[in-house]
Amino acid sequence: MENRILVKDAFKKKGKVDVAGWVHNTRDLNKIKFILLRDVSGIIQITGVKGKTPDKVFKDMSGITRESVIYVSGTIKDSKQAPGGKEINPDKIEIISKAEDLPIDVSDYSKTELPKRLDYRFLDLHRQKTQAIFKIQSEICNSFREFFYKKSFIEMQPPCIISSASEGGTDLFPVKYFEKDAYLAQSPQLYKQMVACSMGNTFMITPIWRAEKHNTTRHINEIRQMDIEIAFANQEIAMKEHEDVVKYIVGQVIKKCKDELKLLKVDLKIPKVKYLSYDETVKSLKMKYGEDLSPEDERKLSNKYPDTIVFVHSWPTKLKPFYIMPKGAKADAKLSEGFDAIYGGVEICSGGQRIHLPDLLEKMLKSKGLNPKNFKEYVDSFRYGAPHHAGWSLGLERLTEIICGLDNIREATMFPRDRDRLSP
Ligand code: ATP
Ligand code: MG
Repeated sequence: MENRILVKDAFKKKGKVDVAGWVHNTRDLNKIKFILLRDVSGIIQITGVKGKTPDKVFKDMSGITRESVIYVSGTIKDSKQAPGGKEINPDKIEIISKAEDLPIDVSDYSKTELPKRLDYRFLDLHRQKTQAIFKIQSEICNSFREFFYKKSFIEMQPPCIISSASEGGTDLFPVKYFEKDAYLAQSPQLYKQMVACSMGNTFMITPIWRAEKHNTTRHINEIRQMDIEIAFANQEIAMKEHEDVVKYIVGQVIKKCKDELKLLKVDLKIPKVKYLSYDETVKSLKMKYGEDLSPEDERKLSNKYPDTIVFVHSWPTKLKPFYIMPKGAKADAKLSEGFDAIYGGVEICSGGQRIHLPDLLEKMLKSKGLNPKNFKEYVDSFRYGAPHHAGWSLGLERLTEIICGLDNIREATMFPRDRDRLSP
């Protein structure tokens, strides 16, 4: 078994090969028997012929249940009829684990509904379509990291347990922390700012938790965010970085995940980019001034600009968190240096320039009805040499959902946590 190679590599070999994987399908025609063996890299046909295949092996090829795990040692041969044009004639087959009756259909034509599939997510991960989504997600993370490593950003690991709300919201999960009350982090905001203000440009992929009682196709309660924070930067620089990295990620997915995109029937294109101020957006969508974009508004924007990341920038200060820089660093400025990015009909990212000036930060906290005393540690962190800086948070699951053309964020989350789901 030490010599086991991946199915995709077996196709490139001649002579003896060892493979191992899951029984995708079987066919028994009495004198000839077929097993389709699947691993994460592909499917290969194992063909047994009565009289040619060793008797015991030929006999063992009957009655192996779907999704059982087997190990096969044999000779790879060209075969016009076999999928991929090759098959393995087995000398040895070992059943490593026999699968019981399957509680869900894991074929490509599965009609099992999503909630049931998620109840059995460990088995749903046997499906090629599900695997395609998470291979693409893996590539999204890989290219995100690659992009920022190449630009010498430092990857950081923010804490996930925090002592107080980072954004002043109430949507936190409390945790008992010895004698103290603590919370699961709803954002790495404060910590990435501390790193940007001391070491410079930083990025991370980190879980965050929001205790919001949503029940939508775009919200979950445990989220992975791809975050950056750039020192000596404003809103424009942050948006450009976002534009460049998403284009890079999509380009890498197109290049490296051809089979997966084909399986998901997605015709992925590198997105175009449109920059619109909040004021221009209000006019264009005939929205009411002073309100957040509704899900309907976000869909409308993406219909107007298909295959485009639409950056809605310069939001009213009132609609953005207290730490977003007001224009001209003036506490009473109506507009701010904050933006959202809309792609595929949903908000995938929020960001902007942050306030690095303690006095202004205190004024903004007050103007939002928050008590600066509760944010003392945060404000104080900017008292000892802090450059201006900007950054954003891009939701990994939302980006995966859009890239894979899915209509529910749970499909793009390996083990989703929502209002009702806490396992598996
Ligand atoms: P929305 O208004 O769509 O609920 P938000 O503005 O509350 O999102 P932010 O705080 O701006 O979210 O978080 C930054 C990004 O993280 C979002 O643009 C999104 O991609 C992702 N995100 C935030 N909350 C969720 C959630 N509950 N489920 C999935 N993704 C989320
Ligand atoms: Mg947002």
